[in-house]
Amino acid sequence: MFRTALISVDYSAAKGPMLDCLSDLRDMGVNRVVLTHVTKVGYAQGAGYGHEDALNAWLSARAKPLQDAGLEVEIDIRAAGEVARDILAAATEHGADLIVIGSRGQNMVRGLFLGSVAREVIRLSTLPVRLEWIEATGKDGDAACERACHAGLRRVLLATDFSAQANAAEETAVQLAPHAGIIDLLHVISPDEVGRYARWPVMARAALDNIAQEIAAAGGKSEVHLATGKPSEEITRAAAEHDVDLIVVGKHGQGWLESMAIGSTAANLCEIARRPVLMVPLNNNEV
Ligand code: AMP
Repeated sequence: MFRTALISVDYSAAKGPMLDCLSDLRDMGVNRVVLTHVTKVGYAQGAGYGHEDALNAWLSARAKPLQDAGLEVEIDIRAAGEVARDILAAATEHGADLIVIGSRGQNMVRGLFLGSVAREVIRLSTLPVRLEWIEATGKDGDAACERACHAGLRRVLLATDFSAQANAAEETAVQLAPHAGIIDLLHVISPDEVGRYARWPVMARAALDNIAQEIAAAGGKSEVHLATGKPSEEITRAAAEHDVDLIVVGKHGQGWLESMAIGSTAANLCEIARRPVLMVPLNNNEV
């Protein structure tokens, strides 16, 4: 399980729901959080950024719901040229085993959901990253956010392609299982796979059943699901159907090449999932 989460807080229109939604981090085992805000300092601004006190007051106010949820909270404000790299440095310095970042709701109107800092943090992180789904505009986003807050880890969806990369996500789901209501175990079969291996669905179900047994042995409950189609779309569909509070995936899958910073399924999910996504990197032994 996780212990220390570094929460990267953006000073933007999306800031409102972000921290109110995080009390369910406790269900992931987190008992200490570091709220980090990094101000980008450009040539024009010089070395200082001048509003540390205001930022501190703002972050302290934002810390309140987390403290109310029983978490130990620290605040870390930094100025940097490269925001994503400083977020990762802060995570290392504070001994974090999880990074939490928000999506940028205001970008949705332009059809681009994930902000550039979030994208870079996901790309470079060797720690699991939880991407919070933030929709700053419109009532639906706020309602979805509230639901996630109040439910905790009622239902968690693990999507696996059974690759070595997804194995780390599978292990994380098994560890979360005793603290969650139900783990939905999903594999998405591509029509192409069925064409090549007629018994692929049978093998996939057996592999999911095997994970279900591990979850039962850990004291959790699970349900097994198979779907056919494009993985990111089917994962999103299943997540909505079961109204899951968190989607767990590997940062990479079987099609991963060294040259790819993040797999296409994981990247697509960040754009379309409409709920929190936990991306677990390969060889994550920290949880
Ligand atoms: P990718 O982005 O395709 O490299 O895969 C990233 C992660 O998405 C994997 O580690 C799995 O957790 C998930 N994933 C990819 N393909 C599938 C699939 N066919 N069925 C279920 N989950 C998948």
